[in-house]
Amino acid sequence: MNSPSLINVLDLGAEELKNKFKELGFEPYRAGQVLQWVYKKGVYDFSRMTNLSLDLREKFKKSFLLAMPEVVEREVSEDGNSLKLLLKLEDNHLIETVYIRSDDRHTVCVSSQAGCKFHCAFCASGQNGFFRNLTASEIVVQVLMARDISSSKKITNIVFMGIGEPLDNYGQLMKAIRILNSKNAFGIGARKMTISTCGVIPKIEALSAEGIQIELAVSLHGPNDTVRGAIMPVNNTYPVKSLVEACRQYIKKTKRVITFEYILVKGVNASEKEARELSRLLKGISATKRRRISPKRRFVDGSDTPFGGLCKVNLIPYNPIQEFFHDAPSYDEIVQFQKILQSNGIKTTVRFSKGQDIQAACGQLRSVKLTGNNK
Ligand code: SF4
Repeated sequence: MNSPSLINVLDLGAEELKNKFKELGFEPYRAGQVLQWVYKKGVYDFSRMTNLSLDLREKFKKSFLLAMPEVVEREVSEDGNSLKLLLKLEDNHLIETVYIRSDDRHTVCVSSQAGCKFHCAFCASGQNGFFRNLTASEIVVQVLMARDISSSKKITNIVFMGIGEPLDNYGQLMKAIRILNSKNAFGIGARKMTISTCGVIPKIEALSAEGIQIELAVSLHGPNDTVRGAIMPVNNTYPVKSLVEACRQYIKKTKRVITFEYILVKGVNASEKEARELSRLLKGISATKRRRISPKRRFVDGSDTPFGGLCKVNLIPYNPIQEFFHDAPSYDEIVQFQKILQSNGIKTTVRFSKGQDIQAACGQLRSVKLTGNNK
């Protein structure tokens, strides 16, 4: 167990670390050297930071630590493109992180909580309940470990779509994002990071005021309260129409595109009727934006459709979990759903998840706490 009095370097941004160094009597520029080792060279042991004197390395060890979780298991998908890491945190909570390679994209899917309190029916992450929020360092370290273990030279994208609701851990999430975004730390562009939310409206509003150009994905999964409420209990607190209105305001304020995620589950939310209803639901967003945003900003993706550049829909065929006994629709049904949205001017993509064979696809990640002899 690490001493609680030691400061975890991964919990601090570049400026914070500099200030901490100053406060403890170290030369502030040393902070930059330590961050180089950690974020650029993947060295997490002060003893190996060879451009620091031996004396300094020993002194750092007395004030700071670099806490890395234990890798309990690593699984690679059959196609070799997905790597799932099972990580044990200091208090024995297990979380999962996934690295996905696709052409020239190297993406890490990061967990933000141990467990989840939102209990979406189709998702494994909330099935064991909620344990706790992750700290900023526990979020950041997942990206570092995925990069190192996958031997990916450069992580190009980070998606907060792993275990937990990111916006329910708002403070630590934002802290981690700023560390990952900082040129002096991990240095990935904000536009290359995506927060996925089940629709926590007050936090969507808070995010719109951050002034950070991050991507936002909102899980809809149903065009009305009956369908959505049946699979997403969060809909009882934040109903569909209020959520879409909050998204409309978000777009208006940030001038950024929102992606609506829609998991297609046969017999639940994937009929033609639901596709038409979803089209009607999203039309309102376009109307607000078209009236109030200058034409230059209207179609940022070059599309000439009424929804171009305002929002897009990402259809995700359901990835089975044992607790939700349903199937994805057939390929033809998926294409038909997509066609209906597109014929209503909504830019729509279909994401066929990777890593199903190692339970690493969307909705399949789990969190547990080891107890007793498991430890
Ligand atoms: S989809 Fe997201 S919010 Fe819903 S249970 Fe899974 S992790 Fe939680």
